[in-house]
Amino acid sequence: MITILQASNADDVSRAVDLLQRGHLVALPTETVYGLAARIDDARAIARIFEAKGRPADNPLIVHVADVSDIDNIAIVGDADAVLIRHFMPGPITIVLPRRENVSDNVTAGLPTVAVRIPGNDVVRDVIRRVGKPLAAPSANLSGRPSPTTAQHVVDDLGNVVDAVLDAGPCSVGLESTVVQIVNNELVILRPGAVTAAMLAAATGLAVRSADDHEASASPGTRHRHYAPRAQLVLVHDLEEVRRQGADGATKAVVVLSRHSPGDNIPWRQLSAHSLYAELRRADALHVEKIIVHCDEEIRSDEAMMNRLRRAAESTKEERQEG
Ligand code: AMP
Ligand code: MG
Repeated sequence: MITILQASNADDVSRAVDLLQRGHLVALPTETVYGLAARIDDARAIARIFEAKGRPADNPLIVHVADVSDIDNIAIVGDADAVLIRHFMPGPITIVLPRRENVSDNVTAGLPTVAVRIPGNDVVRDVIRRVGKPLAAPSANLSGRPSPTTAQHVVDDLGNVVDAVLDAGPCSVGLESTVVQIVNNELVILRPGAVTAAMLAAATGLAVRSADDHEASASPGTRHRHYAPRAQLVLVHDLEEVRRQGADGATKAVVVLSRHSPGDNIPWRQLSAHSLYAELRRADALHVEKIIVHCDEEIRSDEAMMNRLRRAAESTKEERQEG
């Protein structure tokens, strides 16, 4: 059974450190989503991460370190990478770098690169520093489900297979980190996130672009089914169409996610980046059949949100076709 530890309690934080040092799995509350952490030098613990999540073995893990000076021990940092690191770390960004020998194939899925991140919140960096080893930490959900943004989400998905979760309340960002890689002096976004293309361009002066299909498939996680609720997810731009489909709510299990209420008698929940995954999970818990997401202009301009919404909608479509 999973132990729930409180990030505000010093003894509980020490317990999380001790468990991780001894090769156990502990879910940690980063600013993006809760991550399922294990030390990277313990092959058994790393294998248990894949087992617990049902994660495909070809989907590499992000390695978390506490301080910029720790990056050199696991990766080779170029001049342009150093600019990125200085501007955005700690923060909701992951940088893919050439890896050093001590990062094993089971962490990187055999890739010659390693994805590195420094979480934004002090308590997680403190835990990593005290464990004294970099921690691999993918999102602490069952593979394919929406990422966990509260400790309860971790308990719901992994309560029987993970040793502990450190509870620090809901994640402030709520979507996974921006994943970037510098290739031939161009900055390639492998996964959009809270650090946007505009921010990256302004900080580095580099040309910034999204990954093409070939590059995206080199970031294996982007190939897999992701972020999906059990309910059917439908993306709708136009408010009239939202109302038309939402009106079914009277007779069918439907909920609308929108920035504003669509009107009387339509079951409605507030849509925002930091509550998106919680709302998808809530809809599933209520056995909602259909989630209608109102993608107004502001939502459509949010690349990270639209990326997750499109992929979740795709996944639920595939599931229905497969029956
Ligand atoms: P998660 O930890 O579940 O948020 O997923 C990690 C994401 O980082 C996935 O999309 C992976 O494909 C990506 N990733 C991890 N390591 C690498 C790497 N070495 N090269 C490219 N992408 C990576
Ligand atoms: Mg994940």
